[in-house]
Order: sequence, then C-alpha cells, then structure tokens
Amino acid sequence: MLSQNNGTDPACRHCCIRIEGLCVSLGENLILDKVDLHVHCGEVLAVVGPNGAGKTTLLRAILGEVPYRGSMSSLIGGVERRRPKIGYVPQKLQLDLDSPVSVADLVIAAIRHRPVWFGVTARDMGKAKKILSVFLADHLINRRIGELSGGELQRVLLAIAMTAKPELLLLDEPSSGVDQKGLVLFYQIVRDLREQHDISVILVTHDLSGIAAYVDRIVFLNKSIVAQGSPEEVLSNDALLGAFGPPGQWKGMV
Ligand code: ADP
Ligand code: MG
Repeated sequence: MLSQNNGTDPACRHCCIRIEGLCVSLGENLILDKVDLHVHCGEVLAVVGPNGAGKTTLLRAILGEVPYRGSMSSLIGGVERRRPKIGYVPQKLQLDLDSPVSVADLVIAAIRHRPVWFGVTARDMGKAKKILSVFLADHLINRRIGELSGGELQRVLLAIAMTAKPELLLLDEPSSGVDQKGLVLFYQIVRDLREQHDISVILVTHDLSGIAAYVDRIVFLNKSIVAQGSPEEVLSNDALLGAFGPPGQWKGMV
C-alpha cells in the first residue's frame, strides 16, 4: 500500500530522498542548476523535459557517477543514510546484437556470485524463471539478448535491477523503442512493484500522455525545475504549455 510521509515515520520502510541546490557542471557547461527535489516515500515520480535538459545527468548524480555540488540525503524508516540502495535501468545499453549471451545468463549472473561459465544448474534456471515471471518475461529465458524487442529488453533489465532489492529505482526513458502495448505493460509492472515493495521510483520519460495515470507526481526539468505537481497540475500548467506547446507535441522533443 502506498504511504507517503516525510520519511520520519519508522513504520514507513520506503525510501525518501531529498536533493537540495544540486548543481552539475560537465566540461565548461552548467548542466543542472540549483535543483531542489524531494522524492516522497513510496512515490513514483516522473521526470520530463526537453532533450538535453539534464534528466539523465540528474539520475547519474543520484547514482554518484558524476560530481555535483549541493546536498543529497535519504531517509529510510526514519534513519538517515547517505545513499539508498539503487536499482538502475539506463537509457542506452551498448549491446552486441550477435552476442550469444542469453536472458538466463544475465539474470543468473545477477543473482549468483559465481560466473555463469562455471555452469548453470536447474535450480539457477528455476530461480531465474521465477524472477522473470514477475516481469512477464519468463518465456524469454532462453532468448539471446540481441533477439529481444525494446519492450522485452526493458522488462528483462528491470527484472535484473530488482534482483538487488533496491530502495530507489531509477528508470531512464523506458519508452525508447517500446511500442504502446509494451509501454502500458511496463508502467503496470512499475506500479505493481511500488505496491508490493518498499520502493520509490524516479522515471524519466518522454511519454507524457501515457504516464499520467501511473505516476504520483511529474517534475518538468530544464536545467532547473520548471514545474512540478500532480500530473493534472503539470499538464495544465499554462506557463509550461506556453513555453513547450501542448502535451501532444512534447513527444518528439523530450
Ligand atoms: P537529457 O537526458 O535530458 O536528454 P543529458 O543529461 O543526457 O540530457 O544531457 C544534458 C546536457 O549535458 C546535454 O547538453 C549534454 O550534451 C551534456 N552532457 C552530457 N554528458 C556530458 C559529458 N560527459 N560531458 C559534457 N557534457 C555532457
Ligand atoms: Mg537522457
């Protein structure tokens, strides 16, 4: 069940993350400028914005992959921690489409502490299949990674990200190269994950119209935060619509 509070309730085991005055410079350029963002406990937060707005950079800063100024803290069950346990599905993956690596190889490598070339047991396969079934991907277990559609690959990557039992899930543009049916399936799975696990989610997307029913809040980022609120509030924000055009036109630009 979704619970939202300021993270101080010890009964709430969700992750709550507070980012204040976050600035990121890459080379000569200021990419993120004084971003203040509070991800509430157990919330699914969508981050949208034009190409080059700094959405991926924001996720990379949260992951600690790029240097930043400002502060970031997390509160889990009322206990302050520098960084939560994070599951990450990146925007792009350099994949060798001819690689013989299968879905089973990837999932088993994630759940076991031994390389797969030491041999895969029937028990490993059973475990991998069970994990994949939550993501409606168990039928893909013997497929080569290069054979998967965009939507299938996203579900497999999400399954792998969840094997580490993250407290915060970062999903970067799961909609790239995924058809409408695949997208709805993905959003439903994310919503179910949030219901069943103590997890908060930041979802970077360009699918503004499709995402509204599945997220609690939308943040519109363009170097700084331009607008934030419930999907209804953000999608009816006149200043935003004036600057970026109606939501139907955002699809190509974000
Ligand atoms: P988004 O995900 O919103 O499209 P990004 O976070 O990927 O945007 O990029 C934001 C800006 O940062 C872009 O102008 C991009 O060119 C720049 N950028 C990203 N990575 C680097 C880097 N390693 N060095 C210099 N500039 C970068
Ligand atoms: Mg990006």
